Amino acid sequence: MPSTRFPDESHMTRWSRIVSSDPCTYCLERRSDTVDHIRARSQGGRNQDNRIGACARCNSHKASHSMLAFLRTHGYPVRLY
Ligand SMILES: [Zn+2]
Repeated sequence: MPSTRFPDESHMTRWSRIVSSDPCTYCLERRSDTVDHIRARSQGGRNQDNRIGACARCNSHKASHSMLAFLRTHGYPVRLY
């Protein structure tokens, strides 16, 4: 649905604007100033549901790693149910 406030912006730009006010999905400490692909685009993660907000630092560190690998290697608690 086009934004009435920003009618010309792309979906990606709109998504970035929306998540930029949220905390980083990974560290919850910084603002989400980038959009991360949960499954890296280089590994086929190209659909829109694959995007989350992340701070530049976490997004850079995650790079093309899987979310689980990134969380484990950076000390984030991971609980598998
Ligand atoms: Zn972060």
